[in-house]
Amino acid sequence: MAFDCDVLIAGGGPTGVTLAILLAQRGVKVIVAEKEAEIYPLPRAAHIDHEGMRILQEARAADAVMATSRRAARYEFRNARGEVLLCFAGSDRLGPGGWPGANMIHQPSVERALRTSLATCPDAALHGGWELGVFAEDAEGVTAQIATPEGERTVRTRWLIGADGARSPVRKAMGIAYDDLNFEEPWLVIDALVDDPARLPTANLQICDPKRPTTCVLMGEGRHRWEFMILPGETPEQVSDDAFISRLLKPWNVEGAVRLERKAVYTFRARIAREWRKGRVCLAGDAAHQTPPFAGQGMCSGLRDAANLAWKLAAVIKDGAPDSLLDSYQPEREPNLRATIAMAIMMGRMVCTTSRWGAFLRDTKMRIGRALGKLPSGPPGYPPISTGAILVGSAGAGSYFPQAVASDGPKLDDRLGNNAWLITRGGLAAPAVTSFAPALAAWLDTHQAEAVLVRPDRHVFGTGNATTLRAAWKAATGLEPPPPLA
Ligand SMILES: Cc1cc2nc3c(=O)[nH]c(=O)nc-3n(C[C@H](O)[C@H](O)[C@H](O)COP(=O)(O)OP(=O)(O)OC[C@H]3O[C@@H](n4cnc5c(N)ncnc54)[C@H](O)[C@@H]3O)c2cc1C
Repeated sequence: MAFDCDVLIAGGGPTGVTLAILLAQRGVKVIVAEKEAEIYPLPRAAHIDHEGMRILQEARAADAVMATSRRAARYEFRNARGEVLLCFAGSDRLGPGGWPGANMIHQPSVERALRTSLATCPDAALHGGWELGVFAEDAEGVTAQIATPEGERTVRTRWLIGADGARSPVRKAMGIAYDDLNFEEPWLVIDALVDDPARLPTANLQICDPKRPTTCVLMGEGRHRWEFMILPGETPEQVSDDAFISRLLKPWNVEGAVRLERKAVYTFRARIAREWRKGRVCLAGDAAHQTPPFAGQGMCSGLRDAANLAWKLAAVIKDGAPDSLLDSYQPEREPNLRATIAMAIMMGRMVCTTSRWGAFLRDTKMRIGRALGKLPSGPPGYPPISTGAILVGSAGAGSYFPQAVASDGPKLDDRLGNNAWLITRGGLAAPAVTSFAPALAAWLDTHQAEAVLVRPDRHVFGTGNATTLRAAWKAATGLEPPPPLA
């Protein structure tokens, strides 16, 4: 049976659509099957970090997202009396990804920007109302049954990606279990349309009040988000009642300044699937892992999965790399996920304390931590890739390669494109990089390197000299090495 596509992606959420774009840009033929007819409208992600924005930049959706996103300079954790327990400041400044550290967004608008970009890719098609059913794998590919509005269809693909969200039918069908990281809290989430922004906080806030743990954050232009923990004895129906919500919002004194747009009850969880690749099937995004939202990293993590998978799948499908390259996907991504989720759980436990005694102990600990200068002032740097398609042992291998931004605006990735880069000291005079030469030279100085080979997902493959890097790249990936920048 002939192949209908190289990659079938189940799920047209942010992970699936981003992956589809990054694959199609590399000439891979992709079908996205999304069971819903429309973009999921209920409140979810409100934040994208600088790395996520850089991936959206590659997916040609960043400008549309930036046009309506907003910045908050501070993320504060306050106790019931308003005392600041923990504060991350400066998140409006440019992060290493070349975009502001924290960008407050409206997830359906981000998904709309991604779909608009996908529509311009001749090699990718997204079908709404297509629900993946059973599928069977053989040596060359996967044959999947899909329920469509026009009836049942069979799709033959070389690879299947389950980007089908937390309930992931693909993961279930593959019999892949979760590692449960023991966090489970029900929260009410509401989005409001803003009529009078002057009456709203300008910082992102976690109110660590044991009587009602509350989140209050900016979203994309014209919207604000509140999240309220559901207390023992309360039911989702009770807290979703409009009169109940009005009472919850009373202390914020925003009557007349905002209008309720959407509400939903979620159980925040922390889980990681045990296997992310099984034969010709991979999991990505929420299908592979779920985090409580306190660090704003769920969707960002799915975007990172897409960036990690895209170049490897393209290398296997288009450039003859061995499919063992895909075995590096989970070992490279999972430690990052575990660190991200640990951070979110730490924040979540701080916020979700409902005993007065527990809150007193927490506040005391935080005061001591602050007095000793032991509290972090920003989100932690997550661990670099330590194993997989990198030149282990060379300086900076596996770390995130920053995106330099020229003083007159252009960004490095736009100049160098989406392939791997081999940047040598000698190449810094090349016209494509003259505006970025000081930043690139500084990076090479810090790592005492003659050259750096940067992977397409903007992690450092390794440092050394051009000849050894080219040979090591070929050995590690099976791919022709990139020419030195000249
Ligand atoms: C309250 C809340 C706040 C959040 N805040 C943030 C934040 O600030 N920052 C952040 O980065 N993340 C945040 N997140 C997490 C973020 O929303 C998710 O991580 C993100 O949506 C995951 O994207 P995904 O594409 O992997 O999965 P999803 O968005 O869930 O998409 C999966 C898609 O698969 C489809 N599907 C399912 N089964 C099938 C099938 N059989 N066939 C075809 N299609 C199928 C579904 O319809 C769905 O569209 C938050 C989440 C919540 C709930």
